[in-house]
Amino acid sequence: MGERLSGWVILVFILVVAGWSVARRDTPDPLAESAPQDVFSTDRALVYLNAFATAPHPNGSAEHDRVRDYVVSQLTALGLTPEVQRATGVTPRYEVAGTVENIVARLKGASGATDAVALVAHYDSVPAGPGAGDDGAGVAALLETLRALKAGPPLRNDILFVITDGEEDGLLGASAFVAENPAAKDVRVVVNFEARGNSGESQMFETSAGNGRLVQIFAQAAPHPSGSSLTYEIYKHMPNDTDMTVFKKAGAAGLNFAFIGHWEAYHTPLDNPQLLDRRSLQQHGENALSLARSLGNTDLTQLQDRDSVYFSLPGNFFVHYSSGFLWALALFSGALLFGAIFYANGAWQTSLLSIFASFFVHIVILLVLLLIGLGFVLGVQWLHLHAIPEGGLEQNALYVLGLCALLAAVLVLLYSLFRKRIAPPAFFLGGALLIFVLILVTTRWLPGGSYLFVWPLLAGLVASITTAFRPGRLSFLAALLLCVLSVPALIFFAPLLQGFYAALGFTTLGTQLLSLTFGVFFFFLFPYLDPVLESSGKLLAILALAAALVLCIFAARTTRYSSTHPKPSLLSYALDADTGRALWTSSVARIDPWTAQYLGNSPSRGKLPDFVPDWYPIEFFQHEAPSVALLPPQAELLEDSSDGATRTLHLRITTPRHARTLHLGVAQAEVLSASVNGHDLGKPSEARWHQAGHWGFDYANPPADGIDLQLRVQAAGPVTIVLVDRSCGLPTIPGATFPPRPADSMPIHSGDQTMVRRTFVF
Ligand SMILES: [Zn+2]
Repeated sequence: MGERLSGWVILVFILVVAGWSVARRDTPDPLAESAPQDVFSTDRALVYLNAFATAPHPNGSAEHDRVRDYVVSQLTALGLTPEVQRATGVTPRYEVAGTVENIVARLKGASGATDAVALVAHYDSVPAGPGAGDDGAGVAALLETLRALKAGPPLRNDILFVITDGEEDGLLGASAFVAENPAAKDVRVVVNFEARGNSGESQMFETSAGNGRLVQIFAQAAPHPSGSSLTYEIYKHMPNDTDMTVFKKAGAAGLNFAFIGHWEAYHTPLDNPQLLDRRSLQQHGENALSLARSLGNTDLTQLQDRDSVYFSLPGNFFVHYSSGFLWALALFSGALLFGAIFYANGAWQTSLLSIFASFFVHIVILLVLLLIGLGFVLGVQWLHLHAIPEGGLEQNALYVLGLCALLAAVLVLLYSLFRKRIAPPAFFLGGALLIFVLILVTTRWLPGGSYLFVWPLLAGLVASITTAFRPGRLSFLAALLLCVLSVPALIFFAPLLQGFYAALGFTTLGTQLLSLTFGVFFFFLFPYLDPVLESSGKLLAILALAAALVLCIFAARTTRYSSTHPKPSLLSYALDADTGRALWTSSVARIDPWTAQYLGNSPSRGKLPDFVPDWYPIEFFQHEAPSVALLPPQAELLEDSSDGATRTLHLRITTPRHARTLHLGVAQAEVLSASVNGHDLGKPSEARWHQAGHWGFDYANPPADGIDLQLRVQAAGPVTIVLVDRSCGLPTIPGATFPPRPADSMPIHSGDQTMVRRTFVF
């Protein structure tokens, strides 16, 4: 083959494999109601889901009680004796508490021992959406799993079905279960199901320390295992939590599953059963059933093992190996790298100096990409905020593809430029040196992520020693070998880029990560792309730039809010009962006609310190609203004692208008300790958003007779207590009518709400 032709053949191969590994789906086909009784069927699970995930059912709503009763009735119909655990749940880390009702049922095992596998999902939703994915799919998967288990042979261990409450209000049900339910002490291992979206693979995104045995069980048991230790490493460094956090803190081992596709639907009305990806539910259920069977017959005292490195590959492969091999792999790749440098020195007369120069050039290239990614996203955000119509940017594939094309154009140009100044083998080896540093860093600090660099580097080094960078003609066999060696980089990095898009979307953080990762990806492809870069670098750069331009123009023209992509926003009515002053507030970034009916066309913008905690990162549009006589929350002092500069206050806090949540804050005084309904709220200084002098906590679903609060405060004088209660929906304004939200607008998370604030001085 001529060099020009073989270069293009390899490029086409790379584009096809990259496209395929992004487009392919390893989610299983959903099974019909006619499937055998002992397997998991999505259609059977959907019967449950369609019965309860039809409307929002946050803790403290009437719909919530209906869902609770429904789940209890189904567990009973399946032959278990469910218990409803009514309790006060407290999660000190989030400074939250609440009245919750967990549903707990035990499927007895044959062994007679009480060691149990807990299958966990939460049945509450956020106020803004019906929670079909989050976490109705989890609950429906567990009910269908129980049905299938009953149709199969009995298991050795007990299986506990823990359907928690108040997860959305801060993991409250899980906290109450672990703290107070006697069954909690039997739990050896937890399998939790979650969602942050309504489609995509049900991935095992989190596990626990010493997971080698668990990962092996998952790999063998699940029909379509999906997940990677890289995701787990990233997740460990993210602020996100699920019920699993609470169980792990209590000492249980665990596997945590979620699908995160179509983030736009998360915590909105779009998270409904009609839009739920049935394949995601099938995979959720297969994971639940296969793990229940496998762990149900495993000796649960023998689960601890060395950590594993693991990743799924196209075609349903799940690779896992002990982290004990990682240093050997790192050293082996180092030995091969230095062997290649030595070889290059003799074969191509590359100087060490040029290799070092390339090492630094690669660092500069990555920084340039980072800046381009950041500039690109900020530019697009500015355009849609000021110059062209608004639209949903977070999950915008067209802009992400446009950015990728732009980055490719820049990289092709830079590589074509540098390969003229630094001999291509030396240029590659300098970048390989940088990757080797990344291998050492990940092996030490992010072991689960080291595989991402090790295998593509080994392939690249083999390519450079055997085939790549030879001047002149490429034999057919050589081109074939280059294609094969490019595969590790392609099947790791193309899905990873898609994963960043699914997880973080077109956001500043997402695009920066995407830009850096794209740079590393391109580096790995350099030995295979070098022939085409040499013969047609300029043409490629122009093509990529043209593609970027077309994609961005198309993205700009099609990014619009519509009834299928509604604009998410929060509209609130905030009444200060001390002053009688009220505000309309909105979380939108740009005023739209519907919001303008409440806030006018040029409202002011800023934080809402009286109603929303300081750490909350969002600024709100706000505008004077008519004052409505709403009953404010009440604090009644039951007891008051002083000991030097320490005061102990015993209060009863109520919300006469039966709001769904209560916030209580203490201003300008140091809270030493606090307990609600006799439950310690934890050390104030250990809470996640703790700021000295700004203590507060939220209580979800307060009982009609209120909550009982004991406060120990460092204060000799008066103590000011701020109460804000929040209810779903907006108040009726006498003499005013507002049309409901139009179809291209939707609430998100807590939904539209009414907040009433009142301060008390004791
Ligand atoms: Zn959830």
